[in-house]
Amino acid sequence: MTAPSRRSFLQLAGTGLALAGLGVPGAAAAAPRTAADTPVLLNFNECPYGPAPAAQVAARDIVAGSGRYLFGLAGELRDLFAQQEGLGTAQVRLYPGSSEPLNRAAILWTSSSAGLVVADPTFEALGDLAAARGATVAKIALRADGAHDVRAMAAAAARINAGLLYLCNPNNPTGSITPAADIAWLLANKPAQTRVLVDEAYLQYSDQRSVIGQVMQREDLIVLRTFSKLYGMAGLRLGVAAAHPDRLRELASLGDNPLPVTALAAGLASLREPTLVAQRKAENTRVRQATVGWLGARGFSCVPSEANCFVVDVKRDGTAFIAAMAERGVVIGRSWPIWPQRVRVTVGTEAEMARFRDAFAAVVDASS
Ligand code: PLP
Repeated sequence: MTAPSRRSFLQLAGTGLALAGLGVPGAAAAAPRTAADTPVLLNFNECPYGPAPAAQVAARDIVAGSGRYLFGLAGELRDLFAQQEGLGTAQVRLYPGSSEPLNRAAILWTSSSAGLVVADPTFEALGDLAAARGATVAKIALRADGAHDVRAMAAAAARINAGLLYLCNPNNPTGSITPAADIAWLLANKPAQTRVLVDEAYLQYSDQRSVIGQVMQREDLIVLRTFSKLYGMAGLRLGVAAAHPDRLRELASLGDNPLPVTALAAGLASLREPTLVAQRKAENTRVRQATVGWLGARGFSCVPSEANCFVVDVKRDGTAFIAAMAERGVVIGRSWPIWPQRVRVTVGTEAEMARFRDAFAAVVDASS
């Protein structure tokens, strides 16, 4: 494959197709490139380190046996996850990523007569699907500190007869956290018919306590986890829904689909790595704090983040800023309509964030 031009890369960047041939580790038949030529991808909140080394070995080793469904492997992973989180195995169900149970939740629990309450800004997949299906979606602005405004969300849930309330902790795109006390208040005060879905895709990066244990007592709480973020398995596809068995049965009622055995093997190996979470969390925190500190020293403020992404106020049109960064080979995330002058940035490696800083300074200089 001939190496694509930067322009064609930028057109492809959103699709991921641009990776092949651009020297991204693991891409087949990659043309040799210098580091400075390789675009830096800080746009999808992916983990720049990929699967842990032990997870990569496990995924490779299982390929020879993948002529079988290997259903036992899914049971092993479910049991280990349940044991590590203090759950019963009946409260845990695996999916190919957390997008799958998110979609199912929208289909099952929102409709033209059952609304959805979400924060603004937040991860939009659930809201988009619910809206497309005719549900009323109440978007409640985050508080100034980046937390979900649980009191306003509970009031909105009553107002629109919500079947579902989505709370992402830490939140995407901000990485901001909602304190456990606020979530406890929400669970105690939301309308009885409103199920609460807590998306903990980024929880392992934060200092927050999970609410996952509460699915042992509550019938109206669904907690999602994914292996796509800290475990670096976005392309392998593995996620977990934890909930009361009745809610899991409802989710499963939309059909079954065996999981890829490579994902299961890599997932098991990841859970068995005793220091992986702490190491990746510490490295992410160090690099994020250095980057946010650098931005702050130059007058660009960020919503406080405990995740592998942050939102920075670029004080000019966010979409144009993103395009200018991409022209310099640094592909960052996007803006949300509520904050047109802020952009989301994924935390990459130290070297990638050095490229980010160079490009950021150049874009600011060029537009000042
Ligand atoms: N939830 C949140 C908050 C996310 O940011 C993402 C992906 O970016 C997902 C869920 C879906 O991830 P996946 O389907 O890879 O688990």
